[in-house]
Amino acid sequence: MNFNRYFNDISENYLFAEVANRVAAYTKANPAKKVLKLGIGDVTLPLVPEVVKALRAAVDEMSEKATFRGYGPYEGYDFLREAISQYYKNAGVNLATDEIFVSDGAKSDLGNILDIFAKENTVLVPDPVYPVYVDTNVMAGRKVIFAQATEANGFLPMPDYSVHADIIYMCSPNNPTGAAYTVAQLKEWVDYANKEGAVILYDAAYECFITEKDAARSVFCVDGARTCAIEFCSLSKTAGFTGTRCGYTVIPRELVKDGVSANKMWLRRQSTKFNGVPYIVQRGAAAVFSEKGQKEIRENIAYYQRNAKTIADGMDELGIWYTGGKNSPYIWLKCPDGMKSWEFFDLLLNEAQVVGTPGAGFGVNGEGYFRLTAFGSKEVTEEAVKRIKQLLSK
Ligand code: PLP
Repeated sequence: MNFNRYFNDISENYLFAEVANRVAAYTKANPAKKVLKLGIGDVTLPLVPEVVKALRAAVDEMSEKATFRGYGPYEGYDFLREAISQYYKNAGVNLATDEIFVSDGAKSDLGNILDIFAKENTVLVPDPVYPVYVDTNVMAGRKVIFAQATEANGFLPMPDYSVHADIIYMCSPNNPTGAAYTVAQLKEWVDYANKEGAVILYDAAYECFITEKDAARSVFCVDGARTCAIEFCSLSKTAGFTGTRCGYTVIPRELVKDGVSANKMWLRRQSTKFNGVPYIVQRGAAAVFSEKGQKEIRENIAYYQRNAKTIADGMDELGIWYTGGKNSPYIWLKCPDGMKSWEFFDLLLNEAQVVGTPGAGFGVNGEGYFRLTAFGSKEVTEEAVKRIKQLLSK
């Protein structure tokens, strides 16, 4: 037996473990101090009533012989796929239900989709970004090159025709930078992908946070995307499903290479390795797309958006450069006084008892930057911003 040697090439995930270690050490040494956490990207508000009602009703169905359900369709129940299709339609995007695959979240599909691509593909990943894209490719032995996201381009790199890529990852609104592409900017990427014969793997996990009109809610808002893009989305941040688990992946019928359909390959892959998302969860997910469900989740999103504004206003008052906040729950700020990410982390922890995430953990270009999230409670967010302001305006 031999292990997959490519696992040696993945960097150890120091980031959140190291954050937890430093916080634990501080708390042990200073038990009386209250530490405020604006670090991890998990939600804090519970599932909305309409979702809970649907989950309960589905449990009841499963408890009766007449309505019990066993294995469901690999690609998800029609009632949910139709609800998702309608959601896209409301945003001006027409999708057939068989282009939508229900998943147990975006992370699994972002990793699993690589099953349908050959190893000999050049993969282009923005730096900094959600680490899953790099790690899943490195695990499979693929070559990864980086698109440089920097302050100069507002952390939104644009295509470079002198570089060829086959698989292009895009995350918009971006984790960790919060930057979001406009439809016009995405059009440039779609044109590049179509010219290069590449596929765009578009992660729209934070689309529900978009507030600016010209920011793209979906890659399929862009002409030409149906021949070159796959979109991944999630109810995790949209509707508090981080622990409930449901998302969806969109693969248009026109995504075809040498007569082979990506949509058909993905269905084949899923039917071999995946047995579907629980019926109960899919009923809860469908409730998210109902009129009442949408109203309720929008209230929760608005709550997080107010937190984002509280953080952004604090940075404005301090004159600190940042992206994000407007179209995302993340504020990506430049560490003051040329501090490195971990230096700033230690300063905030030791002097203000506020925990954030060092930007260096998301890629080389993240060094010198820092991520704060809006997913905490209003009270914690306000107190944390107050403490940061007190500390940095000294
Ligand atoms: N994509 C991005 C950019 C994320 O930040 C996350 C989670 O933090 C995910 C995907 C994972 O989403 P899910 O919970 O649906 O697996």
